Amino acid sequence: MTRYSVFAIAREALRNHQGWSRAWASPEPKAAYDAIIIGAGGHGLATAYYLGKNHGITNVAVIEKGWLGGGNTGRNTTIIRSNYLQDPSAALYEKARSLYETLSQDLNFNVMFSPRGLLMLAQTHHEVRGYMRTVHANMLQGVSTEWIAPARVKELVPIINIDGPRYPVLGALYQARGGTARHDAVAWGYARACSDMGMHILQQCEVKGVRSEAGRVTGVETTRGFIGTKKLGIVVAGHSGQVAEMAGFRLPIEAVALQALVSEPIKPCMDVVVMANTVHGYMSQSDKGEMVIGGGTDGFNNFTQRGSFQHIEETLRALVETFPMISRLKMLRQWGGIVDMTGDRSPIISRTPLGNCFINCGWGTGGFKAIPGSGWAMAELMAKGEPGPLAAAFGMERFREGRFIDESVAAGVAH
Ligand SMILES: Cc1cc2nc3c(=O)[nH]c(=O)nc-3n(C[C@H](O)[C@H](O)[C@H](O)COP(=O)(O)OP(=O)(O)OC[C@H]3O[C@@H](n4cnc5c(N)ncnc54)[C@H](O)[C@@H]3O)c2cc1C
Repeated sequence: MTRYSVFAIAREALRNHQGWSRAWASPEPKAAYDAIIIGAGGHGLATAYYLGKNHGITNVAVIEKGWLGGGNTGRNTTIIRSNYLQDPSAALYEKARSLYETLSQDLNFNVMFSPRGLLMLAQTHHEVRGYMRTVHANMLQGVSTEWIAPARVKELVPIINIDGPRYPVLGALYQARGGTARHDAVAWGYARACSDMGMHILQQCEVKGVRSEAGRVTGVETTRGFIGTKKLGIVVAGHSGQVAEMAGFRLPIEAVALQALVSEPIKPCMDVVVMANTVHGYMSQSDKGEMVIGGGTDGFNNFTQRGSFQHIEETLRALVETFPMISRLKMLRQWGGIVDMTGDRSPIISRTPLGNCFINCGWGTGGFKAIPGSGWAMAELMAKGEPGPLAAAFGMERFREGRFIDESVAAGVAH
């Protein structure tokens, strides 16, 4: 694989860019692998990458029914933060955020991590108390966040209206090293690094069944034939329920569509990410100048990956008091992704009733930010058969035992 560098760019510029090799290979499936991961979203690819990098397991296939990164990974609004309330979540999301800091160098692929700062606005007294509590919890957890007053909010976000008649801005929970990254690049960077380690990424290959014997998976039935494996990782987000059913167990998960939209590109006007959870909307500006706007989930279970006019109206109506300038913007595109929601709004990184089968799902509306940490923890679980410290609290038995990791405040708004 050609190493990307300033010298490689200069060399290729001199030879009309004819010397670049393909970023990843598209091989034929082998009869069997040491490990198979279903789902080439960010979480599946990161799991494969850390299986190779941290545990030396490289005879791995990542099986994808569509194209890699074409699920939620390529559909999200790219917000990265780690200001969660509960200790296990803060540890996991902060691990992910800190891995993002050097991910471009680690993968030799520019994932455009932009720690531009993230604000969660408090627009009710209840929210003020809630976010102050989170700031205190974050201090104890070693996550760097602070409470800022309305005047500082206005300084950071000149286009904001802090004196709204219904929902004035009373302050914000601020994470200076939160921000965004380029979502496709995260998937592509991991895919390229996996392919470089000799792993197979099998696109256009749908898993239709899971074969097992005596409580252990032996392989998967796919649209490209049966493929054997010693270990299986299920990392399919909104389709977790269906694939778990193929493996013979049920999950405490529901699938709903989550929508987002972008405006026409405009001149730079906001260089932080702002979330307004009371009114239910959030916004950042992309490098192209579009305002990237996220709203809520559909109020019913579905598998559509489309946006709807009703959501545009609802989300913009919610945000316009706080950002009056958006009333003058034309909206350009809208879309949806199928997110996998658990009851406590925390993910599942878990063993399953099948001895050598593991599952990673339940990231709901907020799993992009977690990709590196999640892959790290899932790889450890698959390699050792036991969860490490990052994943230990996220087993699915917590729903049976009533040991919830309640993040419905931190994850209350779609992000
Ligand atoms: C509109 C929207 C906005 C969001 N905004 C944010 C945000 O700002 N910040 C944030 O942190 N998170 C955000 N999220 C959530 C985030 O996108 C997801 O949590 C994350 O991308 C999940 O990644 P994944 O790898 O688990 O799933 P996916 O990227 O969905 O990958 C799963 C893959 O599995 C494949 N698959 C499914 N079934 C099969 C099968 N039978 N055989 C083979 N392959 C299969 C799918 O095709 C898919 O490619 C948002 C989500 C949406 C939809």
